[in-house]
Amino acid sequence: MKRTVLLLLSAFLCSVAFAQVDEGRDLSKYADDKFGLDDQYTVATPYETVTVGPVKSRRIKNVIVLIGDGMGLEQISVGWVLNGGHLNMDNFQVTGGSRTYATDKLITDSSAGGTAIATGVKTKCGYIGIGLDGKPVSSLLHHAQALGKKTGVVVSCRINDATPADFVCHSDDRHEEAAIAAQYVDSGVDFISGGGRKFWEGRQDGRNLIEEMKERGYTFVDTDEDLKKVESGKLLGLFAPLDMPPVLDRGPILEDSAVKALELLDNKKGFFLMIEGSQIDDWGHRHKIGHVAEELFEFDRIVGKVLEWAEKDGHTLVIVTADHATGGLTLIDGSIEDRSVKVHFSTKGHNGIVVPVFAYGPHADEFTGVYENAELSAKIRRLMK
Ligand SMILES: [Zn+2]
Repeated sequence: MKRTVLLLLSAFLCSVAFAQVDEGRDLSKYADDKFGLDDQYTVATPYETVTVGPVKSRRIKNVIVLIGDGMGLEQISVGWVLNGGHLNMDNFQVTGGSRTYATDKLITDSSAGGTAIATGVKTKCGYIGIGLDGKPVSSLLHHAQALGKKTGVVVSCRINDATPADFVCHSDDRHEEAAIAAQYVDSGVDFISGGGRKFWEGRQDGRNLIEEMKERGYTFVDTDEDLKKVESGKLLGLFAPLDMPPVLDRGPILEDSAVKALELLDNKKGFFLMIEGSQIDDWGHRHKIGHVAEELFEFDRIVGKVLEWAEKDGHTLVIVTADHATGGLTLIDGSIEDRSVKVHFSTKGHNGIVVPVFAYGPHADEFTGVYENAELSAKIRRLMK
């Protein structure tokens, strides 16, 4: 009898856990065959890329970390072929490699992978901004705040999802999203943009976090149009109840948020900004190469905008990396001239290959070599003054 109850209970808990995951990752309605075959893709019109030159300064005032969730060299290579042999990421003259494994699993999830990049501490899968001892660890964003810099997080997933939360919050369970969202209220982060509005209002505890943020002086926006109108101050942008739709459906909200963040965060003392191309990962899980490519393209267009801004500024360190790669992607055929690829996915999960680190700006040369994801974070922390 006891055994049956236990079995039923664990089955129930499992279904709750999966329901939470599915609820957040509600992209299934977009997983149609809009792009034709899932393992082939052709691009009709490539986008223009920019070229930037080196900077002379050795002083770092601003740090911008761009994370392609699930973006290994394989995803970047596929994107490069599909855009006719050009990406903004081609600009990086300094490249390194980051080892992504977590303490409990060789193949990491985004919470442990992101926590290592955010805090310099390798931890367990499922942990958000806490170490193995269960204690909160300070992130690059927190360090920047202590230095008097402004801070921002810009993503296309739920703002309370693993990667953005790794930089701002602390939790031993990434699925506790309502509790994670509440931690943003007194976080002091100056620019917050993403999805996940559902966790901010209509909550079981009766709190309305959006109203609480307004009381703390934030301007709240939920459309691209309103975002563009904001000219100063702290900003909270929540553009979807859960994850944002795919890029071809959502429009350039992520790109516009990144540009607006540069505008609003720029100040005498400098800033720290994390921008995530969140959904490269989602479509890797679903084996949809067209979606993977379009999400990567948007991420790369943002990289182009950030590099142009950083070149002009001269005192900005720009790092592009990934928390892990996804899908076990292999490029097996295609043509640069025809901008077409044929690929093979070998897992529905993440994979464990070293991911790239690209660096631009003052002290970029210190990011060569292959090192742990946590060491990448430690390098940035040592340089941020
Ligand atoms: Zn994933």
